[in-house]
Amino acid sequence: MTKSVYLDNSATTPLKKEVLDEMMPYLCEHYGNPSSIYKIGREAKAAIETARQKVATSIGADSKEIFFTGCGTEADNWAIKGIAQAKEKKGKHIITSKIEHHAVLHTLESLEKQGYEVTYLNVDEYGKISLDDLRSAIRPDTILITIMAANNEVGTIQPIAEIGAIAKEHGVLFHTDAVQAIGSMEIDVKAMNIDLLSLSAHKFGGPKGVGALYARRNVLPSVFMHGGAQERARRAGTENVASIVGLGKAIELATSNIESKTAKIRAMRDRLIKEIPEKIPYIKLNGHPTDRLPGNVNFSFNFIEGEALLLMLDLNGIAASSGSACTSGSLDPSHVLLALGLPHEIAHGSLRLSIGESNTTEDIDYVLEVLPGIVQRLRDMSPLYEKVSKEMR
Ligand SMILES: *Cc1c(COP(=O)(O)O)cnc(C)c1O
Repeated sequence: MTKSVYLDNSATTPLKKEVLDEMMPYLCEHYGNPSSIYKIGREAKAAIETARQKVATSIGADSKEIFFTGCGTEADNWAIKGIAQAKEKKGKHIITSKIEHHAVLHTLESLEKQGYEVTYLNVDEYGKISLDDLRSAIRPDTILITIMAANNEVGTIQPIAEIGAIAKEHGVLFHTDAVQAIGSMEIDVKAMNIDLLSLSAHKFGGPKGVGALYARRNVLPSVFMHGGAQERARRAGTENVASIVGLGKAIELATSNIESKTAKIRAMRDRLIKEIPEKIPYIKLNGHPTDRLPGNVNFSFNFIEGEALLLMLDLNGIAASSGSACTSGSLDPSHVLLALGLPHEIAHGSLRLSIGESNTTEDIDYVLEVLPGIVQRLRDMSPLYEKVSKEMR
């Protein structure tokens, strides 16, 4: 029997059993509409408010500042378009980085078509923005800075608190896409001066199709969905009660004892980062050596195609990713790797292994056992590699 090793936790995570157990009653017995005044309606409403409090507590916010959404992408869209609309009198300039998720970049592109102006900050070879670049990009008409807390492809963590301080000093709102960060690092929206934050349940053991937007009091973005009075009349539509309950439970679990939980994941990551290059020549670690997500490993391999590598890994029962899941199927190399300065052909040969709570040391042993052989077989088919290895002899 082939093994089955899941190392794509940045794409999505398995739903935790404890989370499903909390959700189940809201799919069946407690089916009331949260807007109804009778008992089962009130029960559903109360469950939503409990979940809202859990989300708020986990990021240092007030429950009034949490709005449930349909996913992380929706939270990003709402934050950015909502502020663009609300602040259009002040100006139409927004600052971001070149390595944001497409949920942010494509939203900004849509705003550019409507006359907004966007500054895309460069990142260094490790994926970090420069705070000096950020300071000099701020203009009198700048309305929003949107910079992700941690990158989904290379795992680089940005200096969020410093960005928050700069934004505050200049009176500019700060939104962060924290979809990858929740559960992997401490986030305190007040201490870090974060005005808006996006998160998504399925990235930390919760169900797919539910997320949340935190918006600091007084920074309420424009109405996203018109209709009923749900989510303080900002996002109408009957709430996804069971999933919201699941989000609450998942974030509670993910953000308690972050240090001890991530220590195990970090150790597995560090082992792969150390041992893969010992076994495989002509490779490069992408992302920051230390300021990176505890579960993120990203390497570029010369002389091979990332897609071919993924297929071979899949045949061996290993689920991994090359760039982000959204870009697979497209032939363009990852915009993140290109922004880090990788040449096209190297960016094409990249592999992301993202470790989660369900992984074990045996999973890591298995990857270290099969990956070198797979890379060698693929390189043996590459004319370029043949040339290089002849020259070496
Ligand atoms: C997954 C992801 C998103 C999108 O979240 P969905 O809930 O899948 O829409 C946005 N930003 C980052 C950084 C992500 O990793």
